[in-house]
Amino acid sequence: MKIALIAHDRQKPTIVKLATAYKPILAQHELFATGTTGQKIIEATGLPITRFKSGPLGGDQQIGALISENKMDLVIFLRDPLTAQPHEPDVNALIRLSDVYEVPLATNVGTAEVLLRGLDLGLVDFRKVVHGQDVNSINL
Ligand code: PGA
Repeated sequence: MKIALIAHDRQKPTIVKLATAYKPILAQHELFATGTTGQKIIEATGLPITRFKSGPLGGDQQIGALISENKMDLVIFLRDPLTAQPHEPDVNALIRLSDVYEVPLATNVGTAEVLLRGLDLGLVDFRKVVHGQDVNSINL
């Protein structure tokens, strides 16, 4: 799966800890990140990551473009809910596109952990179930 990793500045220590803790899972997937987030995760974990521009310089939009082309399967975007961002429209656009294309999106570390654990169990490809032919066949 293609996974995008993004964190606002005050959340960068958290996304580095997340990537470190879940490195064995993340290592099985193709990783993408905005510029600074990717750099910090690479330094801490050595994971191979395709880095885009820094978020405020267009990185969020680059990832949004991939979502619109169905080339992103999961997004972990640790937003800072307490600090105004100069690129707020880009942040909202990325989240909106994730909803448009029904791409699993975590905006805090709690959801991120659920998604990564679900991914490890093979549970995240939910879109096929809900939009598939036989919704009654879900085994819960
Ligand atoms: P950054 O961008 O990883 O380059 O800091 C993240 C963001 O602010 O969207």
